[in-house]
Amino acid sequence: MIGNLIEEIGEAKLIGITGHVRPDGDCVGSVLGMYAYLSNVFENAQIKVFLEKPADFYGFLKGYDQIDSTFAYPGQFDVFISLDAGDIGRIEKADKLFLGAKKSICIDHHVSNKGFGDVYHIEPDASSTCEILVRLFEDEYMDVDVAKALYTGIAHDTGVFRYSCAGPDTFIALSKLVRYDFDGSRITDETFYQKTYVQNQILGRSLLESILFMDGKCIASSIDRRAMDFYGVNSKDLEGIVNQLQVTKGVEVAIFMHETGTLEYKVSLRSNGKVNVADIASYFGGGGHVRAAGCTMNGTFYDVLNNLSLHIEKQLNEM
Ligand code: AMP
Ligand code: MN
Ligand code: MN
Repeated sequence: MIGNLIEEIGEAKLIGITGHVRPDGDCVGSVLGMYAYLSNVFENAQIKVFLEKPADFYGFLKGYDQIDSTFAYPGQFDVFISLDAGDIGRIEKADKLFLGAKKSICIDHHVSNKGFGDVYHIEPDASSTCEILVRLFEDEYMDVDVAKALYTGIAHDTGVFRYSCAGPDTFIALSKLVRYDFDGSRITDETFYQKTYVQNQILGRSLLESILFMDGKCIASSIDRRAMDFYGVNSKDLEGIVNQLQVTKGVEVAIFMHETGTLEYKVSLRSNGKVNVADIASYFGGGGHVRAAGCTMNGTFYDVLNNLSLHIEKQLNEM
């Protein structure tokens, strides 16, 4: 665990920051929040950000235009920080930079994270990586740019402060951020709620084609390549569909998957509390949190569904 982040970084002159593949709001917020904060603390250090290009609507965050999505850097980093990634496989293209650094630091909140890097700080009970950063950051170096980024991340990982992962410490963290002068509801409107027309169309289609099984305790839907091409959408456009499936009355587990290759699906799992989906995703080589997890699986939609169902049913029967 990290007691003092500034001391941990020490005299570093070249600092790298990364997050997980297909960056979500917590990933973008924690990476750019860390960038803004370290820029305030270490005015003479060079700070580089490596991340897959996040959606344009994150463009209001400081450092967005500094993001390097080539993951190419010739030198060795003094310190390299991984944020919001549950295992080293999740930082994919940045893993060489991370492993090659003089010191590597991992800060994360996934219950499936076993710890990687020279120094790691994992709080499985934290709502988000951004919440952890609020506690690790010192007030004197905070500013509105840091606050906006961390607010964005907490908002996204808590479904705008609704999910059970948002506990007392989350709201204490938020109380520190909302003192800064920014429009929080604008951030959640523009980065969380707002959908493009095609995103809404594909959401509608996913709901329409969803299937309810296990006496209504499970709901599943999938989008194949053909449909994605037809609507002209990519993986990022499908975020949030699983959450809408999850709020179906009576449902314990929601499954949403989309085709990422031949007989290959990216699977998103959400639980309303009875089933631990982190265990199921981990079993299939993925990971995540008790109520929100993901993995990549092979086979047809029905193969994947059958494999997942066995695990869900087992957990429900054991109760
Ligand atoms: P998603 O369903 O992609 O929104 O992911 C839900 C949660 O599970 C997030 O916290 C992700 O970071 C995590 N997660 C998703 N896919 C994977 C994976 N393949 N390996 C590890 N963690 C994952
Ligand atoms: Mn994330
Ligand atoms: Mn997160």
